[in-house]
Amino acid sequence: MKPSSDDPWLADESFSSYLTRRGVSRREFLAFCGKAALVLGAGAAMTSPPAAAARELAKRLGSATRPSVVYLQLQECTGCLESLLRSGSTPVDELLLEHISLDYNELLMAPSGKGAEKQLMAASGRPHLLLVNGSIPMKDDGIYCTIGGESALEVLKRAAQNATAVLAVGACAEYGCVQAASPNPTGAVGVGDVIRDRPVVNISGCPPIAEVISATLTYYLAYGRTPPLDGMGRPLFAYGQRIHDKCPRRASFDAGQFAERFDDQNARLGHCLYRVGCKGPATFAPCATVEWNLGQGFPIKAGHPCLGCTERQFYDRMTPFYRRLPDIPVPGLGVEATANTIGAAAVVASVAGVGVHSAATVIARHRARRAEPETLPLAVLGDEEKEAEEDGRHKR
Ligand code: SF4
Ligand code: SF4
Repeated sequence: MKPSSDDPWLADESFSSYLTRRGVSRREFLAFCGKAALVLGAGAAMTSPPAAAARELAKRLGSATRPSVVYLQLQECTGCLESLLRSGSTPVDELLLEHISLDYNELLMAPSGKGAEKQLMAASGRPHLLLVNGSIPMKDDGIYCTIGGESALEVLKRAAQNATAVLAVGACAEYGCVQAASPNPTGAVGVGDVIRDRPVVNISGCPPIAEVISATLTYYLAYGRTPPLDGMGRPLFAYGQRIHDKCPRRASFDAGQFAERFDDQNARLGHCLYRVGCKGPATFAPCATVEWNLGQGFPIKAGHPCLGCTERQFYDRMTPFYRRLPDIPVPGLGVEATANTIGAAAVVASVAGVGVHSAATVIARHRARRAEPETLPLAVLGDEEKEAEEDGRHKR
C-alpha cells in the first residue's frame, strides 16, 4: 500500500470510498468494526448485540468524512503515542492512525521548525478534533515546557479554540501523572483543568491501552460525539469496571489463596496478588478484558500486581506499590471486609460471597458514574475514613 501522504483521504470523500481506493477489502473493514464494537460493547457504549453493533458502526464509519485532527505533545515521555502506534492490527487501524498525523503532530510529521508552526496555525484555525499527550506546567509562567518559544499553556489554549472535542490521552494529560506527583515542581495540571469550555474526554492510564484510544476515536468519527463518560470524564466502555471484577485470579482471592512473595508456591500456582500489592480492587480499567499488546496479556496475568495507573494521583496514592491495600473498601459501603474475611467467608458460603461482590460492584459502578472528579479515588482508597478519623482526633 502506498503511504497516505501519496494518496491522502480527500476532504469530501467517505471513509469507505477511501478504503476501497487504498485496497482495503470490505471483509477487513468489517473485521475492524467487529473488533471495535466488541471493545465499545464491553462497557455498553453500544447497546445492540455485537453483530448488529458492528454493522451499525460499519455503516456510520463508512460514511464519515475526513476529520481534521491536531495532536499535541506537551510535558510527557511519548509513551502514550508509542502505545497508540502499537495498535495497528489491521489495515484500517493503520489508516485511522495515519490520519492522526495528517494535520499536525510534532513527533510523526515531516515538517519541523517554522514549517511545523505554520502547519499548527493552519490546522488549529479550522474545526478539528484535538488530541493531547502530556501535562501543562503552570509554575513560573510555564517555562518548564515550551514549544517554538511559547509555553505549553499558550499552545494548548490556541489549539483548543476551534476544537470540536478534546481527547486527553494518558494520565499526564488527564491530571499531570508523574510530573504532578508530590511536590509537583513544575505545577503540572491536566487538560481539563485548563480547557473548560468544550468536551474533554480523559483516556486514563500510564499509558492507556492502544485499543481504548482507537475505539474512542472510532466512536467519535462514527457518531460525531464523545462516548458516554464516568464522573471523571473517562469513557464508560473502558473504565466502567474494576480490574478486580474481571481478574483471572479472582477465584483465588475469593478462596483466600494469596501469594505472599513473588517466588513462593502460591505465586507459582497463579494465586491472587493482593498481598504483594495488587491495586486491582481500587482500579477502574479495561486491562483484564481488552488486555495489552493486541490482546495477548496484562500485568496480573504475567504475575505482576496492578499498580492502579488509571486512577488519579496513583504515584502518590497507590504507593508503596508492593504493599497491600489496607482493606478492600467499597464506594458507598465504606470498608467492606479485609481480604482474609472475604476469602474465609467465600469458602464457607461461596454463593453469598458472589452476592455481596455483585452488589458491591453495582454500587461501585453507580458511584463511578455519578462521582464528581477527584471524589472517587478518595472514596475507593478509603481516604474518607482516614479524613473522618483525623477530624475526630482534631475535635477531641
Ligand atoms: S487483588 Fe488483584 S490479583 Fe487479586 S483478584 Fe483482585 S485484581 Fe486479581
Ligand atoms: S494492570 Fe493496572 S497498572 Fe497495569 S496497566 Fe492496567 S490499570 Fe495500569
